[in-house]
Amino acid sequence: MKRNKINCASCGKESLTKNEVGINIKLLGDNTTAYYCMDCLADYLEVTVQDIEDKIEEFKSEGCKLFE
Ligand SMILES: [Zn+2]
Repeated sequence: MKRNKINCASCGKESLTKNEVGINIKLLGDNTTAYYCMDCLADYLEVTVQDIEDKIEEFKSEGCKLFE
């Protein structure tokens, strides 16, 4: 499935990266209708951007195909 041109639902940042979309799916569930950029996602979840980057690395090391 191709997910092109997804914009942040909060700040409107355009064309979220594959990793950004992937972590939204992981953290918000795969039926989420809103996707956030790293900054807004961190805000929303009340964590730091670094926490989210660590999560992405963790999922990547598990071989999750949502990430690159
Ligand atoms: Zn945003």
